[in-house]
Amino acid sequence: MSLNSQIFIAALLGVVVGCVLRVYPDTALFSNSIYGLSIMSSIFIGCLKMLLVPLIFTSIVVGVASLESGKQLGKVWKVTLMCSFTTMSLSLILGLTCAHIFEVGKGMDVSLFKHAMDQYHSPAQSLDTSSFFTNFIQNTLINPFKAFSDGNVLSVVVFAMLIGLALVYGGNKFQHIRTFNEEFFNLVMMLVSWIMKLAPFGIFALLAKLIAKEDLSVISRLAEFAGIVTGTTLFHGLIVLPTLLWIFGRMSPIKFFKGARLALITAFATSSSSATMPLSMKCAQENLGVRPKITGFVIPLGSHLNMDGTALYEAAAALFVANLVGLELSLTQQIIVCLTAMIASLGAPGIPSAGMVTMIMVLQSVGLPAEAIAILLPIDRVLDTVRTMVNVEGDMMVSVVVDRYTRDENIDHLPTKDVAST
Ligand code: ASP
Repeated sequence: MSLNSQIFIAALLGVVVGCVLRVYPDTALFSNSIYGLSIMSSIFIGCLKMLLVPLIFTSIVVGVASLESGKQLGKVWKVTLMCSFTTMSLSLILGLTCAHIFEVGKGMDVSLFKHAMDQYHSPAQSLDTSSFFTNFIQNTLINPFKAFSDGNVLSVVVFAMLIGLALVYGGNKFQHIRTFNEEFFNLVMMLVSWIMKLAPFGIFALLAKLIAKEDLSVISRLAEFAGIVTGTTLFHGLIVLPTLLWIFGRMSPIKFFKGARLALITAFATSSSSATMPLSMKCAQENLGVRPKITGFVIPLGSHLNMDGTALYEAAAALFVANLVGLELSLTQQIIVCLTAMIASLGAPGIPSAGMVTMIMVLQSVGLPAEAIAILLPIDRVLDTVRTMVNVEGDMMVSVVVDRYTRDENIDHLPTKDVAST
């Protein structure tokens, strides 16, 4: 049975068990079951937290180091980064704006992670903008080993970017380290896939606990949030990206969607931009007329670093959780959410639910405990389908724009990536 079907069945079972438990509050059955469910969900969330630092570190090093192939390609490199940065910034702004307009999660009192909230002191809560930056520098540029052991993710990200850049500039001198890092990344991905096998149990326990203990309107708020995020992500994919493509890539949205549809459907079905990569390259080359050397550079890089759907989701979800626990985010905190959501999506590899793991760092950045992802996990698989589709769409769209703007550039010395071998 596929993981998605297992998760679906587990979610249904979770709802049933939660409803049954609601009927017997204040009994030994209730408290023992809640205890068991708490342990089950803590194991799953604990495993995700355990992998956060190694995943972000290796994923960012691999992503940045892959810029190597574009080093000689001044313009291709610059246009690619500029396009990715622009589309991701737009998606973040869109995510936060919609979360504000629809006041996602406002007016609720969720006790699920109240304990964690009480124990957690937000480092950013009382900061104004200037002290935030002083604090940011002091806490970020620190001994990387301390950062690893403390789980200081921002600091790990900065260090990973520097290592990635050094690998780009050092070239062959650091071939062993590059290979080691790639292998380590693949190893961490394997661990993630193992932990994902626990997802049905984790989601069963989280949902059962949520329904047994919480006011049922939390569930409807969750469904409302899922609807709003899906709508906003689709708006980005159907309106914002095609408009940019039309203006900067001079390609009609109809031609684009016709050519890209196979990759988009695959992204929806697999929830993995990495698994979809060969098809994205094929569609971009054969149907959208992008030169193979451009797709060979832009799309693999994009599947690591360009994730509009993930960025949008992470920003909106942070606001949702903040609203749920009644935390009013200041402007500074919202800027922090945007920056960390962008970094978190850079750190998320193109595999199912990766955004969920990196979501932990977005929550922590504004003083929300990692445990708060408990509330988002039950809906993650559904949301992942649409956000992955938009991630993949963004990669193909950027390749069309880059292709157009670098027509006069000599790219003959770039190795051609064979679509079939990816
Ligand atoms: N599943 C997404 C992707 O592969 C990443 C995420 O979880 O947001 O692009």
